[in-house]
Amino acid sequence: MIYFDNSATTFPTERVRAVCSDTMADELSGNPGSLHKLGVAADTAYGKCISGTAALLGAKPSEIIFTSCATESANTAIRGFMSRNRRAGNTVISTRTEHKATLECLAYLEKNGFNVVYIPVLSDGKPDLKVLEDTLAAGDCALMCFTLVNNETGAVLPSDEILKLRNRVSPSTVYYLDAVQALGKIRMDLHKTGCDMCSFSGHKIHGLKGVGVLYVRDGIRIDPLILGGGQQRGMRSGTQSLVLARSFETALEEASEGIEAAFDDVSAINGYLRRELAARKAMILSPDDALPYVLNVSFEGFESETMLHCLEIYDIFVSTVSACSSKSKKVSYVLLESGVPQKIAANAVRISFSRYNTMHEAEEFIRCVDEIYDKFAVRR
Ligand code: PLP
Repeated sequence: MIYFDNSATTFPTERVRAVCSDTMADELSGNPGSLHKLGVAADTAYGKCISGTAALLGAKPSEIIFTSCATESANTAIRGFMSRNRRAGNTVISTRTEHKATLECLAYLEKNGFNVVYIPVLSDGKPDLKVLEDTLAAGDCALMCFTLVNNETGAVLPSDEILKLRNRVSPSTVYYLDAVQALGKIRMDLHKTGCDMCSFSGHKIHGLKGVGVLYVRDGIRIDPLILGGGQQRGMRSGTQSLVLARSFETALEEASEGIEAAFDDVSAINGYLRRELAARKAMILSPDDALPYVLNVSFEGFESETMLHCLEIYDIFVSTVSACSSKSKKVSYVLLESGVPQKIAANAVRISFSRYNTMHEAEEFIRCVDEIYDKFAVRR
């Protein structure tokens, strides 16, 4: 099997599986809220896990909330902030190339009377900073929401420039960042990043599905999305899962080891595929300076889904549009918003890598693409 669909999800590593298995021991399976010694043991371990995770992210333990996924993190951050800070302004800034986890929150806010301004995205996948500056200067902007690495193209946000712009033009505007596809691929130091709130997902970094993280900088107040027993400082009620939290911490710790070497290896694979595919009947849709972990390619003569299933015959797995919207058979809105013509976007396939992919797999991928063209293209 060649698994090139790592932006959709990744497989848990041996280390993650082992830690999860150890954590399921009776001694650690108490409720962290219980007063007896099993509860205390679970609570102590959970506290350590929060501290470890915070350190790996360059944050303080008081700034970390474990959630069920990045979608929950986005909902808590965006809706929770706007609900709590009604006097901060009525406008939210974003783009139309965000993940649905953000876009649907923005649609919800619009339905509830907030004004959402969508900054146009240029052909390199980056928001038009002149329009952003003008929008910030117009005032009333409570929140801006952007994605650090786009999940469909790998386009990288000019986050430092955006931060400088915000600090100069509208310092009170809170900056929410979706860093789901950046985590484990580029070193993350949240205090240096300068964002105010940030989302992460465990299953994109070889952790388990069912766990995400929300970073909320100390001093930023949000309303919780989930009410109940007041766990996690009242920010996310519900009995904490030590197994899930530890799976996240372990995956992040593992991803942080050799992160630069992994980046170089994936860059080499990406560069090879870009060259080989461009020499065939394929058009590279990811920007030149995209993160190498994502490569969006349009195959001439093959609709996205047809190519996906042709590759599947060879046990090669890729995506059409992002996994959560791919069942709706739509052409990628991210590509269309970035100015890719409909006909080209309709043939787009997303190939996405992890540090565990190899050059040999990339060579095999090219061999199979050649065979697919030989076998199927002429008869079409
Ligand atoms: N944001 C981005 C950029 C993503 O790629 C994804 C998942 O595809 C999400 C948010 C949502 O993550 P989760 O599956 O953890 O809800």
